[in-house]
Amino acid sequence: MDFNLSPEDEAFRRELREWLEVNLPVGDRVTPVDFMFAESDEQWQHRLAWHRKMHAAGWVGISWPREYGGRGASLIQQTIFAEEVNRVNAPPLVNALGIMLAGPTLMQWGTPEQKQRYIPKILSAEEIWCQGYSEPNSGSDVASLQTRAIEEGDYFVVNGGKIWTSDAHHADLCMLLVRTEPSAPKHQGISYIVADMHSAGITVRPLVQMTGASGFNQVFFEDVKVPKKNLVGVKNRGWEVAITTLMFERSGTGAFRDFAGQVRELAELAKITMRAGRPAWADASVRQRIAQFACEAAALNYLGKRHLTRRLRGDPPGPEGSITKLCASELNLRMNNFAMELLGAYAQIEAGSPFAIDEGKWAARMLGSRALTIAGGTSEIMHNIIGDRVLRLPRE
Ligand SMILES: Cc1cc2nc3c(=O)[nH]c(=O)nc-3n(C[C@H](O)[C@H](O)[C@H](O)COP(=O)(O)OP(=O)(O)OC[C@H]3O[C@@H](n4cnc5c(N)ncnc54)[C@H](O)[C@@H]3O)c2cc1C
Repeated sequence: MDFNLSPEDEAFRRELREWLEVNLPVGDRVTPVDFMFAESDEQWQHRLAWHRKMHAAGWVGISWPREYGGRGASLIQQTIFAEEVNRVNAPPLVNALGIMLAGPTLMQWGTPEQKQRYIPKILSAEEIWCQGYSEPNSGSDVASLQTRAIEEGDYFVVNGGKIWTSDAHHADLCMLLVRTEPSAPKHQGISYIVADMHSAGITVRPLVQMTGASGFNQVFFEDVKVPKKNLVGVKNRGWEVAITTLMFERSGTGAFRDFAGQVRELAELAKITMRAGRPAWADASVRQRIAQFACEAAALNYLGKRHLTRRLRGDPPGPEGSITKLCASELNLRMNNFAMELLGAYAQIEAGSPFAIDEGKWAARMLGSRALTIAGGTSEIMHNIIGDRVLRLPRE
């Protein structure tokens, strides 16, 4: 890959940087990972307001084609965008599932009417999306799902339940996987439909994570009517559509994530925490651990760039996205666990206490970082995919 930016890309970076400097006061900056795991209504409103500001200025959906209201930015510019918003700790946008998953999936599979109906309101966050895949007994093996949809006139009537549905409590629409042909082999009897989350018969119950936040939910469907025109792709062949969404999810999770800042924060923490009566930083083994994290963060950065090079050559996101997802989420977890070691007894002090070091952010991060090794496919499943489909290892 050529690491030098073209004059056009340099101009893009300058324009974005200047816009962020003017429009994002220092007091409004957050660490996205902290925000994600402690979200109150007030924080959601704050994110919504920030989203609208970004959208009005044309900074939402920069990778989306212009015909759908995006900026048609190149992959390089998407990387620059991610670097710049990370650099200034901009609040995360709302409607991530709509922008990252539903929109691109509909662009590929939607009918002209579906594209016209749904796509314009995704970037503006006028309609928030959630993803109804996982069920209490179907997570990693999502194709075993049991939520049923039976045809009645112009409708599918849906009964069953979904779980871990992120943002369902804010959502207007759901990418919903349902079983429409129970007697078919499991991958061949699934359909992909769009459900209106305000329909009669839908109940959303928040699930509280160990962080104390409730970003995801259990969703119950009781005789919920979904118009047949909301079927995406072909009936009983929804698995093909579902896989498209998953590819976007895995290549998005962890991609463009730069951990260099987090490594620096860890080094700072080592300077203010004590080990055997001296700052932990004075201990060579501590410095070596941090240096190891710095090397892994750099390797991950280059891995992301390699992935980018493939995409620039025109290859679609493939199972290689699983490597980035696995390495990023596991590195994040190990760094946060190491912070707990540095903090020692202070690790137990919760955010909000005057005695909490760094306002208690490390404990919140540690508790939250396990989730990222599960969401979008667990680390074990990523290992399976890498072994099977990337390295093509023998099964025996
Ligand atoms: C923060 C967060 C947000 C989420 N948001 C959503 C969402 O918006 N929508 C949605 O539909 N889902 C969502 N999920 C659910 C997520 O996709 C599932 O949790 C995940 O796919 C794992 O499924 P499970 O929890 O049922 O675990 P299981 O599949 O029951 O797995 C349990 C354990 O067994 C291991 N295991 C399972 N199968 C294998 C295998 N074949 N080989 C080796 N090990 C295996 C797993 O790795 C895991 O350790 C979210 C999860 C989290 C944590």
